[in-house]
Amino acid sequence: MTGRFAPTPSGRMHIGNVYAMLGAWLSARKSGDSIRLRIEDIDEPRVVPGAAETMMHDLDWLGLDWDGKPVFQSARHTLYQEALDLLGNLSIDEISDKVSTIGIDSDNSDSYGTAASDTINSPGTTPLIYPCFCSRADIRAASAPQEGDRFTVYPGTCRHHIANDPQHVKQRLAKGDRHSLRIATDDTTISFHDEVFGSQHYNLAQDIGDTIVRRSDGIYSYQLAVTVDDLDMGITDIVRGRDLLRSNALQIYIRKALIAAGFQPSEPVQSAKSSQSTNTVDSADATISYAHLPLIDNAAGQRLAKRERSLDLGILTAHGATAQQIIGYCAWLLGLQGDPEHTKPQPMSATEALCEFSWDAVRANTSDRMLDQAEFNAYFEL
Ligand code: GLU
Repeated sequence: MTGRFAPTPSGRMHIGNVYAMLGAWLSARKSGDSIRLRIEDIDEPRVVPGAAETMMHDLDWLGLDWDGKPVFQSARHTLYQEALDLLGNLSIDEISDKVSTIGIDSDNSDSYGTAASDTINSPGTTPLIYPCFCSRADIRAASAPQEGDRFTVYPGTCRHHIANDPQHVKQRLAKGDRHSLRIATDDTTISFHDEVFGSQHYNLAQDIGDTIVRRSDGIYSYQLAVTVDDLDMGITDIVRGRDLLRSNALQIYIRKALIAAGFQPSEPVQSAKSSQSTNTVDSADATISYAHLPLIDNAAGQRLAKRERSLDLGILTAHGATAQQIIGYCAWLLGLQGDPEHTKPQPMSATEALCEFSWDAVRANTSDRMLDQAEFNAYFEL
């Protein structure tokens, strides 16, 4: 198994980020597995200069080590485009069949590229990757309001245009009209087992909808980049917040589509025990362990956000917080010091947390964690 840290370098890590990183590290290290570091700096406007270096320093200081060289998404644009080109060879009908029979060869002689595709030619077929000319306002106006993780199911406007009038779509592409690219979904239910939340089922069409894989500003979407990277890097142990449960179903779909389209992982797995390449077509479709963690809310029930500066490592360390205090607090949030609703946090090192770690302990209480600011301040002596 290979785990991963996947931080977005948009600011200093806060307690919520450390909690997720600790979960990923414990899951990998408990079974003696390797863990990679991937800096998710694909969304360049959100990247804060120097934040990636500070994160690496913070992880190191906390005792959360990783294997191999860090991977930067910003250096992998060619790979994401190649993956999109491969997906662009498929139609939604082909993928529906292939998603259930992964491993069959596909003919990748054609390329969708960034402009018009031959798969747009025939009315009645939907290319798996199609251009979308809708603005955010168009989508909002046409969508039913969504709750929870703010997923807006795309109403399919441009998908209908392609099915009904492919020539018009080709003309718009030829004129250079601004567009994003979406991956088409169908009425398939994706099921997976989550270590914390158990059996999960999401209907692609109803719960997720056709999703942007490349934005109209040319930036590859989180969903595409993370799926390509996890496949390419041989990641088999995924730990992150429960707000990504629904995304996980979409990522399983994109992963299966990539495999069906003939995507070949390029990086050898950096195993802690052996430096030999273990990436084969079989390992690309390996069983993956998924664990989505309860979120951390403040007393008002709001999710922790980067703007809550009092919780960031810069403020905490400036007040003299030690690595053991921070790890201890996150281990407590994970449930490794008993049920967090009935215990108080105690400092501990990452190695000590490893002795206490099990998914049984985490899943013993799956409610979101409530962070009481007064208790937090008392613990850190702020
Ligand atoms: N980069 C994402 C974050 O910082 C994590 C995404 C993932 O784990 O897939 O929230």
